[in-house]
Amino acid sequence: MKAVNLDVPASSLGEGPLWDLEQQCLWWVDIDAGKVHQYDMVHKVHKEIHAGQLCSAVVLCRSGRLMVTVKDGFAYLDVVSGTVDGFVPVEELLSDNRFNDGKCDPAGRFWAGTMDYRKGLPQAGSLYVLEKDRSVTKKLANITCSNGMAWSPDQNIFYYIDSPTYKVMAFDYDKATGAIGGGRTVVSIPESQGMPDGMTIDTEGMLWIALWGGAAVARYHPFSGACLSMIPLPVSNVTSCTFGGTDLTDLYITTAKAGPGKTDAAQQPLAGQVFVCKNSGARGIAPFKFMD
Ligand code: CA
Repeated sequence: MKAVNLDVPASSLGEGPLWDLEQQCLWWVDIDAGKVHQYDMVHKVHKEIHAGQLCSAVVLCRSGRLMVTVKDGFAYLDVVSGTVDGFVPVEELLSDNRFNDGKCDPAGRFWAGTMDYRKGLPQAGSLYVLEKDRSVTKKLANITCSNGMAWSPDQNIFYYIDSPTYKVMAFDYDKATGAIGGGRTVVSIPESQGMPDGMTIDTEGMLWIALWGGAAVARYHPFSGACLSMIPLPVSNVTSCTFGGTDLTDLYITTAKAGPGKTDAAQQPLAGQVFVCKNSGARGIAPFKFMD
């Protein structure tokens, strides 16, 4: 499987790819730059929204709006002006923390986790959920770097990555209430392969995980823990992936210029680019929308 880069501006910390089925476009964020990017795959048109503040994840809403996580809360983002409104604060008093990866669950709740982004303090972050009524619940504490999330095709399991653990955890998930429990390790990734970052899932229930420092996306079996296949990339710091295209069989992959490793321009001229692996051999599940 081979991935090729799109004709879009490189991101410092490209993250959070999100496929928009209706518009046939890809959304993603450049966390460091406070930008939300959109690339229309039909017309090959790129747009970017300047939020003027850190944006770590973007989701679609049933209302047709976009919602993002900013440094210390959830908010709507206006796609034209870049202004945010409807801010719901989280961890406002923890100045060294910021939100990181986020995604909507099958019932339309917005899940997102935090991390200490200044010193990387261990277990300083948490995983939160924004409900339809705009209340926020803490789901997990003592998280170091909250990252990839996915829900199994039968919507009974929540998969979650706290990156420095090098593990994927599985939790029993109740769609009706959003409750999770019974956490157990299902995949352990050798440090030599890279640190697990963003994640998506296919219709067979297999996990596709971006490997930060590992220059690849790998597909894992969550029952055996086995690595089934890998997509190599010409960039060390691979951040996240999601399925897109008309039939959800193309895998879109974000990367970063930022971070440790050999990411200088001469050695990795494509660092920060978005890549697509056409006809991945698997099919994704359309992203869930925030139930507003
Ligand atoms: Ca990430």
